[in-house]
Parts: sequence; C-alpha cells; structure tokens
Amino acid sequence: MPDPPRVGVDVGGTTVKLGAVDAEGSVLGERSVPVAGVADVATILDGMAEAVRALAGGPPAAGLGVGMPGLIDRAAGTVQESPNLPAFNGCALRAELAARLDVAPELVRIENDANVAALGEARLGAARGERDVLVVTLGTGIGGGLILGGELVLGAGLAGEIGHVTVDPDGLACGCGSRGCLETLASATAARRRAGAAGLTDDLAELADAARAAEGPERALLDAIGVDLGHGLAAALCLVDVRTFVFGGGFSAALDTLEPGIRRGLVEWAYGERVEEVRLVRAALGPSAGWIGAAHLTVAG
Ligand SMILES: [Zn+2]
Repeated sequence: MPDPPRVGVDVGGTTVKLGAVDAEGSVLGERSVPVAGVADVATILDGMAEAVRALAGGPPAAGLGVGMPGLIDRAAGTVQESPNLPAFNGCALRAELAARLDVAPELVRIENDANVAALGEARLGAARGERDVLVVTLGTGIGGGLILGGELVLGAGLAGEIGHVTVDPDGLACGCGSRGCLETLASATAARRRAGAAGLTDDLAELADAARAAEGPERALLDAIGVDLGHGLAAALCLVDVRTFVFGGGFSAALDTLEPGIRRGLVEWAYGERVEEVRLVRAALGPSAGWIGAAHLTVAG
C-alpha cells in the first residue's frame, strides 16, 4: 500500500491554489479555486474541500496543510485576522475543513502563507535538501521564513521576520512602529522610492537592466540597496548561522545586481570567513511554493 498523497492548500487573495505530492516529493496534481468576488466563506470552503477530495482520491488520509495570509491561531485552528481576505476573519478554518473532509481536526494544520512558501522552497525548491535556510521575500514589504534543522521555526509565532531587523536607527518610520527596518530600505517599495529620489526609473526591471549594462547611478543604487540587505541578513547569520538565503518576490529578479552589495554588507556586519560559504539563490517554485510547503506541514521531517 503506497503512502497516501500529501495535499496542500494555499489561500490567496484571488485564488486558492491546491496540489498533491507523493512521499518522494513528485507533484501528483494541481488545481485552483477562484476566490475573487466570492463573499461567502462557506462557498469557498466547499470548493476547497471538493478540490482536496479530488486530489487525494477521497478524504486526505495523510492530512491537509493550509497556508493562510494574516494572523492565525495555530492552537485553535482559527483565522484571527486576514487583511486581504476579511471574509475569513474569525473563521474556524480547521474545524470547517475537517468536517467537510470527514477527517479528524488534528489532521488539518494551518500556517501563515509566507511560512509555508518558505517551507516549500526548502523542501522541493531552491534549497531542496538543505536543513538551514532563510527565505526572504522582496515584495511590498520584506517577508521572511526561517527553516532550521529542516523544520519551520515559529517561536511564539513571528520568528524569521528579517524585514523588521533595524538596519538604520535614524531611518524612515516602518509600519511595524520601529524605524529604519530592512524593509524600509530594500523591499520593492523601498527600491522604487529610492530610485525615484535619485531621479532614476522606478521600474525595477528597467533599473536592473541598466545596472547590468553599464557602470552608472543605477548600478550604484542597487549596490547600495544590496549593502543594506547584507547588513540585515548579517543578523540572521550571526544569530543562527544560516548560510543559504533564498530570495522570492518581484524584486528578487534583480538578485544578480544586488549580490555584490549583499556580500559586502555581510562581510561588514558578520564574521567574514562565514560569508564565503553563503549561498544567495532565487526562489524556484514561483506561485506553487505555498501549496507545496503546506503539503509538507502534514508530515514531520
Ligand atoms: Zn519594521
């Protein structure tokens, strides 16, 4: 009797992505359920449950992992607050799904969406086979997901939030209430702001192309942003000695132009000899990272 497939669900603002992998990590199937415009959570949950059953060939015997944006209560299996999906606020997600799938509630695990995406990259993506990984998402803000010893590190719930490490104590106010956080300097939003302030294009793809083409202000700016990133990542290197950093999010397309600066920033703020072993890689799974990571919530190791 082969192991039952592991099914993962990634709840997004417009679509729920689902899929199944076997014990070796091969993708068995993928589906998506539209969410945009559906105001009724019960309808979304019905669609999710139907897709899960189709992927698992019945109730998911190996359990189900769910990635959910926003604040979740892992112990209770509830959604506390999801700013992008307010219809889910207060939803008893674990109990609702378990009932629809005829499985015990303990078989349904719920995790933050950024954390499941990090777990996906660590298990089957850019850092497959590595045990210690920090996944850094360079988007509107900077998200982080920390994997140590092959396991997602949660702490009390907010571990891995590298975006809110202070890099410039005199810097701009951050949405978290602090000042000069890494995300105020090196998120896609921050990069566009800095480019605009320097009189350069705020199209980040064009900015990176110009930096690749020639020495000039574009290359200098991306280098400076890289140094700030390196300073932030040095905190992770010093604290937990993670040496593989996986970059996702839109701005990660510019990683090659950021890398020289990142390495200099790391050398400046972390122990130099460790920096030579640091790997800086782009995320590999794209929008599938979330459900793949969620599927891996269902089994230990
Ligand atoms: Zn902050």
